[in-house]
Amino acid sequence: MLSVEEALAAVLDLALPLGAVSVGLADALGQVLAEDVASDIDSPPHDKAMVDGYAVVAADLAGGRATLRVLEEVTAGAVPRQTVEPGAATRIMTGAPIPTGADAVVMIERATGDADGKVTLVDEHVVASQNILRRGTSMVRGQVVLSAGAVLRSIEIGVLAEIGRSDVQAVARPSVAVIATGNELVPLGDMPGPGHIRNSNGPMLVAAAREAGATTVDLGIARDEAEEMARVIEAGLASDVLLLSGGVSAGVLDLVPGVLKSLGVDEVFHKVRLKPGKPLWFGRRERDERSTLVFGLPGNPVGSWVCFELFVRPAIAKLAGKANERQARKTAALTAAITQRGDRPTYYPAAYRVTPDGPRVAPLDWHGSADLATLVRANALVVLPPGEQTYAVGDEVEVHLPWA
Ligand code: AMP
Ligand code: MG
Repeated sequence: MLSVEEALAAVLDLALPLGAVSVGLADALGQVLAEDVASDIDSPPHDKAMVDGYAVVAADLAGGRATLRVLEEVTAGAVPRQTVEPGAATRIMTGAPIPTGADAVVMIERATGDADGKVTLVDEHVVASQNILRRGTSMVRGQVVLSAGAVLRSIEIGVLAEIGRSDVQAVARPSVAVIATGNELVPLGDMPGPGHIRNSNGPMLVAAAREAGATTVDLGIARDEAEEMARVIEAGLASDVLLLSGGVSAGVLDLVPGVLKSLGVDEVFHKVRLKPGKPLWFGRRERDERSTLVFGLPGNPVGSWVCFELFVRPAIAKLAGKANERQARKTAALTAAITQRGDRPTYYPAAYRVTPDGPRVAPLDWHGSADLATLVRANALVVLPPGEQTYAVGDEVEVHLPWA
């Protein structure tokens, strides 16, 4: 059985960055830029007033005070028409171009009166260029402002808008199909009858994949019946990643591995030394230029979620071109004792917080891999190595911070 690290390495080995596509700026959030982008403008495009005030000749204020003739008013979007000469000033608003002749802007709060075409300014610290941002200070035309590999956050989207890029080349968003398997499952709208439960994994995995930046297709529920399963799985194999939940353990109706093999999906591994999440199945199908990574996630919701976090999320990130994305691992002191047993490392739901005395982690009162509800109070997983051991209050343990 592979360790978590070996299994992750096997997954990442097959998760190759997707090709570049043209994306509209409004849809590009979170994607990875696939081109170097140069500015088509100087920014700012003109010497620009950075405050509301008066454009002046700085030397006029050498005495700390001056009464100047007001030539005109220039608001943002307008252009000045008159040259500011000694003894004159132009009333100017933030963002407007600085008039010729002026070399400083005195803020409006420094005016003691503005009437009958004259303004009196009182400011003892006027220096040349104050409150002016010179043309091209932020960037100049032709300058590469974003390089291939940059993740497009809101800041990058803003910069791309500033330089007029309504679309960019970006690594394609991975597509993820989700199928929940199980005769016991009913869809969200139905009340579960005897022996039935609602399909919580389907919506959870769709949400997790979207959180990871993928586009998603929810293929609903497939019964534990080989032909029906094969039909639904074939549809899911049209995506870059197919997530199945359930049907990968040792039960009589755990048909998923067999059906996947019959559809030409090559198994890479089955089972990982991990708790929860041991039944994880992983494979790949390559057909007609399309490569699909297939994860058979455990049916138990917490196992499913932990496997998504440990293996699927990094795979989606790598497909999306985020080569350097690393999951955050920290250490923290336990606030309650916890006992570990068995030959598999345990990823135990916990609440992590940073206190003035250092990071602390509280294991939750968790009831195993079917207990998803307790995880609403979790923001971390305590990683306990295999073996029989009780960890005491104050012991330093390793913490996986999925939501960091
Ligand atoms: P399986 O691996 O298919 O034997 O499922 C293991 C456990 O997870 C069983 O108790 C299932 O009822 C439960 N389970 C399977 N699929 C889902 C699902 N989509 N949502 C919630 N629980 C599930
Ligand atoms: Mg099942």
